[in-house]
Amino acid sequence: MARKENPYREYGIGTQSVHTGTDYDVGTGAVRRPLHMANSYRLPDDLSQVNYSSTDLLMYARNGNPNQHWLEEKIAALHDAEDAIVLASGVAALHALFWTLLQSGDRVVYPKVSYMAVYRMFHELFNRKFGVETVMVDMTDLEAVRAVVTPGTRLVHIETPDNPTIGITDIAAVAKIVHENGAVLSVDNTFASPFHQKPLELGADFVVESLTKFINGHGDAQGGAIISNDVETLDRIRYEAQVNVGSVISPFNAWQIFRGSVTFPLRMRRISESSQVIAGWLEKQPYVTFVSYPGLQSHPGHELAKRQMKNGYGGVISFGVDADDKAVERFCAALRVVTFAVSLGHDESLIFPQPSYDERINLYPEKFRKGFIRFSIGLEEPEDIIRDLQQAFGKAGLC
Ligand SMILES: *Cc1c(COP(=O)(O)O)cnc(C)c1O
Repeated sequence: MARKENPYREYGIGTQSVHTGTDYDVGTGAVRRPLHMANSYRLPDDLSQVNYSSTDLLMYARNGNPNQHWLEEKIAALHDAEDAIVLASGVAALHALFWTLLQSGDRVVYPKVSYMAVYRMFHELFNRKFGVETVMVDMTDLEAVRAVVTPGTRLVHIETPDNPTIGITDIAAVAKIVHENGAVLSVDNTFASPFHQKPLELGADFVVESLTKFINGHGDAQGGAIISNDVETLDRIRYEAQVNVGSVISPFNAWQIFRGSVTFPLRMRRISESSQVIAGWLEKQPYVTFVSYPGLQSHPGHELAKRQMKNGYGGVISFGVDADDKAVERFCAALRVVTFAVSLGHDESLIFPQPSYDERINLYPEKFRKGFIRFSIGLEEPEDIIRDLQQAFGKAGLC
């Protein structure tokens, strides 16, 4: 696809999130670009050059839409990257990348702790259906990574901070091992977002993000992105996964995420500042068994996070309480400011207990196996969130 120069390249992230991908509407002069809900576009008079499986021409909804393309310009700019593809969800983006890169007989190395769908794809789908060799490893242990990333490995996928234990992986160190062995590295950057971390600068080949989370930030639209400087492979993904598998984003969701993304750096700053305060408070509570947040000195990845992240440490905290699943549910249900729901990165704080019967619980470090809660901090006043936690701990009989 033809790529646009980013005229705001030398400006900061706050300016880029306001100005890239937008312009006045040529037809009306409106200072907002329109939402184009159309399945088909007028074809050129001469059809001899048209490739119906490409995204080069606006022609049919699955071949792409203008709202998608404007959002792609912005996402690429936020990562200072050559190009980005925006698809229907974060998982659609992960699948599109894996589907395009991997063939039967290839070897992929993936983390012990990762987003649920990554675990499903590599633990039971790509291996059983397509004969891809999938190897799980603790990515926070570089010796272990070195032992399994052999020549002949096609892809190494990591997530940092990881979902749900908030473990930190050394992107630059893993990239070095990966490239020495002729493989490529993809990084799920959903938890950090480009406000805190730009993995391409640290040696990653591909970045995947769920735009559903912090980038949209309002809990009302789903989307995902693949970001890279390898523009040939991105075009292959457009052909193999967007047009011919069908993971395109709807114009409305792209429009909604574009709007949410304007305030993304402001929200991220507020959320990470609040998270630091709340994580510090949680750590002092006697009934809290552990707090996992990279901004805390007690986090094993704190020094590494200080080097590889900037402007703070993100908006998700994991912590434990000395209680069974039922008491943890009572605590979550008693919250009034914080919402008891899955997902993260919304304007409102969200809390989600990780049940002890989760089949992956034994893949997590020991302390995460009891009373483990994932907590996404929102835009509310941090003092109100703390008061809410306090009253709910009381109601659930935890303190
Ligand atoms: C939510 C999430 C995804 C998946 O994104 P969807 O938009 O829900 O498909 C992928 N990776 C991480 C780390 C996530 O938190």
